[in-house]
Amino acid sequence: MTSDPRESDPVPERDWDRAVELVSAADEVALACHISPDADALGSMLAVGMALRAEGKRVTASFGERRFRVPRLLRFLPGQELLVEPAAYPAVPKLMMTFDVPVADRLGTLAANAGKARELVVVDHHASNTGFGTLNLVDPEAAATAVLAEELLVRLGLPIGRQVATCLYAGLVTDTGSFRHSSTTPRAHAMAARLLATGLNPEKIARELWDRSPFGYLRVLGAALDRAVLEPSTGPGLVWTFVTRQDRAAQDLPYDEVEGIIDVVRRTDEADVAVILKEDDDGAWQVSTRSKGAVDVARVCATLGGGGHARAAGFTSHLPVEQTMESLRALL
Ligand code: AMP
Ligand code: MN
Ligand code: MN
Repeated sequence: MTSDPRESDPVPERDWDRAVELVSAADEVALACHISPDADALGSMLAVGMALRAEGKRVTASFGERRFRVPRLLRFLPGQELLVEPAAYPAVPKLMMTFDVPVADRLGTLAANAGKARELVVVDHHASNTGFGTLNLVDPEAAATAVLAEELLVRLGLPIGRQVATCLYAGLVTDTGSFRHSSTTPRAHAMAARLLATGLNPEKIARELWDRSPFGYLRVLGAALDRAVLEPSTGPGLVWTFVTRQDRAAQDLPYDEVEGIIDVVRRTDEADVAVILKEDDDGAWQVSTRSKGAVDVARVCATLGGGGHARAAGFTSHLPVEQTMESLRALL
């Protein structure tokens, strides 16, 4: 084992050089991250956005959702002033950059803008990344897209102050599961040390991300846990549950408040795989899956039209809960 912070980096030097060239030469940059942004997607985008704006570049940042809304738990991230609604996004960006997006589909409505961009720089850490950019900075070994965002800023020679560091740290700490997942490498910890040295507040970041919610969350969590099912006979052992629109409506709880319930469900010892189906405001089921290692849930979810990482993946289903679970079970 090595303690070199750059212990693995499959992005070729010439691609980094090209990225530095493109970004340095641009006076206008359009940034995007995946729909239903998490802290890694939004944090990486805002970090790069703030650093580029401080350089005097014109920066727009967005994600392609019809109902454009930053999840409540990510509103503490600095740099929100860079965000524009997708309708106000450059239709034909000269230079567009995407963060934490493995396939153009995950850009939502901004996939159209990406398709027209003169240069499209893809910054990502999904092994499943399709390389849809004109330049792809993709490192599946990186714990988070924030790792690549930091490297880009360093290579651009841009300072990483407390606000930029806060955004990067939120991405890193989220995607490593607070330094619990298998992505917790010396490289990840070395990065955390560099970011902490800027004076950011890790306690506040952790509280914003995981340790607060409206009271109604307790009721919805209770309902979800109450109907959890353990199926030790299904392949590697499966635990699953669901949260309906009605559950949330009764407590006036927005969709993004239920994202964390999977972290309670997945602790079940008897199951290798944990699943939660969350009904969104359009009535579609957003399915989150987690594995302890025996099953590659990225493969399972990809078969069902989604994607993700080997131990954390998801897909969208328009079928009823039982039917969705049937197709999932068949793949375990
Ligand atoms: P989540 O369960 O929402 O925390 O997502 C875990 C991982 O699965 C993330 O890395 C996402 O990239 C991926 N993922 C979640 N939902 C989808 C989806 N509908 N389509 C493709 N990938 C998804
Ligand atoms: Mn993500
Ligand atoms: Mn990520």
